[in-house]
Amino acid sequence: MIRIATAGYQHESNTFSAIPASLDLWRRSGILEDAQAIRAEYASSQSTLAGFFAEAEAQPDVTLVPLFFTRLMPMGAITAEATEFIFGRILAALRDHGPWDAVLLPLHGAAVSETFPDADGELVRRVRELVGPKVPIGVALDMHANIAPQLVENADIVTVYQTNPHIDAYAQARHCAQLVLRTVRGEIRPTSALEMPPLLVNILCQGTDDAPMKDLLRVADAQARRPGVLSVSVVEGYPYADVAEMGMSFIAITDNNPALAREVAGTLALEAWHLREALNQTAPRIEQALQRAQAALHGPVVLFDVGDNVGGGSPGDSTHILHAARRLGACTGLLQAVCDPQVVAQAQAAGVGGRIEAAVGGKSDGMHGAPFPVQATVTALSDGCYEETGPTHGGFRFFNDGPSCALRTDDGLTLVLTSRSAGSSSLQQFRALGIEPTRMKIIVAKGVHSPRPAMEPIASELIWVGSPGVTTADLSTFTYRHRRVPLYPLEAETVWP
Ligand SMILES: [Zn+2]
Repeated sequence: MIRIATAGYQHESNTFSAIPASLDLWRRSGILEDAQAIRAEYASSQSTLAGFFAEAEAQPDVTLVPLFFTRLMPMGAITAEATEFIFGRILAALRDHGPWDAVLLPLHGAAVSETFPDADGELVRRVRELVGPKVPIGVALDMHANIAPQLVENADIVTVYQTNPHIDAYAQARHCAQLVLRTVRGEIRPTSALEMPPLLVNILCQGTDDAPMKDLLRVADAQARRPGVLSVSVVEGYPYADVAEMGMSFIAITDNNPALAREVAGTLALEAWHLREALNQTAPRIEQALQRAQAALHGPVVLFDVGDNVGGGSPGDSTHILHAARRLGACTGLLQAVCDPQVVAQAQAAGVGGRIEAAVGGKSDGMHGAPFPVQATVTALSDGCYEETGPTHGGFRFFNDGPSCALRTDDGLTLVLTSRSAGSSSLQQFRALGIEPTRMKIIVAKGVHSPRPAMEPIASELIWVGSPGVTTADLSTFTYRHRRVPLYPLEAETVWP
């Protein structure tokens, strides 16, 4: 029997966020150390762990042992305490239950800890140190990973989602596990190359169904089909992490052919460099976007609140678009979810049908607008739990926004208030509260890519809004101290190679 361990954590750390990823928040999000619990939560999903489970099941002589998994929504850097807890538990479990024929690590790739700017690379380094040089290590990452050399050097196989929104987590995890198992069986000798051109990709240009990312992925596909190439990854990077490795990168894995790996990764990096202007476009401002939505003949027009992209580490309580909608008289038929546990409690006290007067959102920090005053009727209350069986970003199925309510304001807004920061990755977020999103004129979705699988099928038009906030598309508003320099477009005159 081939015995494989899997253990990991996933975090996309926005180093500009004021909210640290503390151990308390990780615990509240759920730390799973029981094999049955990990299986129950993830095996039937479309996530990375599901892909690992499926591949192990497909090979009768393979046993996969899940040891540890936790994930926390994007926010600030992981505290030193949480880092040592998570790393300590993962390493202890690997040590106590080993030896292993291979290790599979479901990570994100853009985790930053207070102690280790490259937290994912540090974990892979420690796992390598523990299991020694001969045990194959496979790492499956998110496409927003900021990848540093130490991660690739300490792993045998690194795979990365190649869709954004991320709907191929399962497929990439199977690919990762397959290559790791072929390595265990001695069928291949993987060798990797990492290329990091001085380039970042604006969050607005990261959709893989649209040019230029679509074109770049087509080139990557062609490279992946070359004889001797085992895997090719285009990595978009995550621009809201002020770390040296922030930016775009490319990984090529070949069967024992380092020169070919370098050539493939280099070819892709050069291709991306030629597309650098198209990879860095801007978005209309809030007023322009709302006016365009108001002028649309059919709804719903979906406005993506880029500055308050919960999936990118923002608090989910931005009110910039609500204030603008009121100024422009665009409230009627507008639907939006906002995080505000205090007003949810007020609505619970008032009960369904009750009246409340409150100031909604804008409470977590000074970057996301002032609280938005409303006079409203409570139309529904819920525990905030819902299930989505259709495609979702990351393949997740079960959602928990915390206690939630629906409000109908006197000026025509429909608001969903949640107790946890919540993006709009599923229409069930609204339907669970008796709101039919297809009847709306305008839906404001907090996110850039994660709401697309839910919104695209019902939207008459999609507009990405250049709103302010901790995930704004305007990167010139951030002060970076640790990123590499130069980096296009922040240094517009960058010359490369
Ligand atoms: Zn991502």
